[in-house]
Formats: sequence, C-alpha cells, structure tokens
Amino acid sequence: MIVVMRKDSTRAQLEGVQKRVESHGLQTHLSEGTERTVVGVMGQTFQDLKDELEQLQGVLEVVPISKPYKLASREFKPEDTVVRVGEAAIGSDEMVVMAGPCAVENEEQVLSTARAVKAAGAKILRGGAFKPRTSPYSFRGMGVQGLQILAKAREETGLPIVTEVMSPEDVGMVAQYADILQIGTRNAQNFNLLDAVGKLRKPVMVKRSFAASYEEWLLAAEYVLSGGNTQVILCERGIRTFETSTRFTLDVAAIPMIKSMSHLPIIADPSHSTGKASLVPPLTLSAVAAGAHGIIVDVHPDPAVAKCDGAQALTFDSFESLMTQILAVAQAVGKVPAGTTG
Ligand code: PEP
Ligand code: MN
Repeated sequence: MIVVMRKDSTRAQLEGVQKRVESHGLQTHLSEGTERTVVGVMGQTFQDLKDELEQLQGVLEVVPISKPYKLASREFKPEDTVVRVGEAAIGSDEMVVMAGPCAVENEEQVLSTARAVKAAGAKILRGGAFKPRTSPYSFRGMGVQGLQILAKAREETGLPIVTEVMSPEDVGMVAQYADILQIGTRNAQNFNLLDAVGKLRKPVMVKRSFAASYEEWLLAAEYVLSGGNTQVILCERGIRTFETSTRFTLDVAAIPMIKSMSHLPIIADPSHSTGKASLVPPLTLSAVAAGAHGIIVDVHPDPAVAKCDGAQALTFDSFESLMTQILAVAQAVGKVPAGTTG
C-alpha cells in the first residue's frame, strides 16, 4: 500500500509515518515528487494498518496498490523517473542513443567505435566484456580486460559505459567500471543477480527476458528497486515467438504499454531483437515513433569479422545515417536530442 501525504504536511509528520510503518517490521520506500510525497509500504501488510496510518497527522490517504509490482508502478510514482548518465537524461523528453560493439574484442575496435558513435551523436557507449553465449564454445568476452578497454574509451571520449554483468560475485567489480550495469535477457530472472544490483546506487538496465510478460519484467525491475536502487532503466529487446526469420520479435507495443504501467524509462534494442543489420533502421524508427526514451544499437568497425553478433551490427556509415533518421522521427514525436534538457 502507499501512504499519500498531504501537500502541507511537514517533514516531522513524514518521519512519523515512516517510523510507524517500520515499527511493524515493514519496509518504507519514499517517493518525493513535485506533485505529491508518497511512502510505499512493503511487506506483509494487514487490514488494520490502513486505518492506523490514516489516523496519523499529515496523511491524506492510504491506498492499496493492486499490482504485484509496487515500486515500479505508476500508482506508487505517477511522475516519470529520469535516470541521468553523463550528458543524457534517460526517461525525459530526450532521445538517448547508446551504441557500440556487441562485445569488446580489442582496444582499437572499441576506441574507433567510441569515436565514431560519439561523432554521430550517441551519448553512451555499449560493449560487453562478459558475454552470455548460447554455446560454451563461442567467444565469451574479455572479462576485466574488456572493462579496462571500455574505461579507456570513456576516458578518451567522455562517453559513459553500459556493460553487462552476469553474476552476483562480479557486481562490485563491474560497478567499478560501468556507468550503467546491464542485466541481459538470459539473466533477467536471476533473482540473486537482481538483488545484488539492487544494493548499488548506480543505474541498472534491466533487459526483458525473451520469455517474460510485462508483469514478470516489471517484477524483475521491482527486485532492483526493492533493494533501494531507484535508477532502473527497462529495455525491450525482443521476445521469442514462432517466427524464425528474425532472431526475436521486437514487441513495439511494450513501449507505450510499459509507459502506462510504470514510471521507469524504457528503451529498445533493435539489434538483438532482429539479429539482422538491414532490419535495425526500420525497427529503431518504429521504437522511436512508439515513444521509446532511447535506443541501444550494435555498431562495429567491420561487422564481417565481429567475434559476436556481426550480422546485426551497423557500420559507422550506416549508424551515422540512422542517427539523422532517429532525430527526424524523434522530433516528429516531440522529443529533443540527448543532452539538451540540462
Ligand atoms: C547484449 O546487449 O549484448 C545482449 C547480450 O543482449 P540480450 O541480453 O538482450 O541478448
Ligand atoms: Mn550481442
């Protein structure tokens, strides 16, 4: 349930509510919006608690949250969450583009890509150092060395880094390098991993499990939020359907639907969803038109020799022309370029 505070309530009254809730062994989560301040009450609530809290000074009303995901819901927080990373405000009116290779392969590959995507207008550099691969014989990433290469690219270009973390034990180490920690589709219901990144106070991007309903996906985000980490970004990356021509099926409807269910920012990954470079531009534009707060796209200096997912990677040139189209569609739906809202 949530406790909605009166507009004229005081800090002491707010603390009074928090203390009362905690005295019952329940957890509180605070949401202080411009419109209203809300105390989320998490745990096994009981019937009389609503009456008890409604008596407290400064309380406007106590409302049960009907959805299983609470902190991720619009009921808890009606205002959009904006996650600020470097120059970008993800979840705002800005269109934020994250781009880079699927996997970090070597320094030159990452540095040249970082320079190229930055010049074209990307605000965040992507690149996997720990790669979840379907086959154990595929290239599984450079590990820490890959993180160091990403850090070097950030140093040179100023672009913040988004990179995947695959196991709870690695969270602390990956967090030393990453600006956004990515939870991949195959780990999107690894609850110990979600708990571990929930302890951070750093942005986390939760990709949709390719078999998750919206509710299951939002519950994955709820794990991170319930750990006290409010900086969560969602990423629609395609789901498994009966279609075999594409790698996955990008669920464009997820973008407006999730925006109605949750206050969290949502971006789309047209690369991993289609698996085909030729399909990346049209699907990117569909996601932008549908209201995505951002896009994450694979770019490689020479896709033909990529160690991972080359078929879906854009060249520098095709990324540059896609950026022009992204900006045109973004503008048509009322978005502004990243880095312009302060
Ligand atoms: C990736 O972004 O590198 C990746 C592996 O994505 P996904 O988890 O969506 O397959
Ligand atoms: Mn990939």
